[in-house]
Amino acid sequence: MRFFKVTKPANQCPYCSGKGYFQLRLGGSETCSCCSGSGKK
Ligand SMILES: [Zn+2]
Repeated sequence: MRFFKVTKPANQCPYCSGKGYFQLRLGGSETCSCCSGSGKK
């Protein structure tokens, strides 16, 4: 038996949920300034 903690990935940017961008209501997307669009920390 192994113990895996199924939580959110460690290397994932918490602001954009690893996407690297934010979805805008008006349409289009904006690059996440936290991870510079990489989606990682
Ligand atoms: Zn980000």
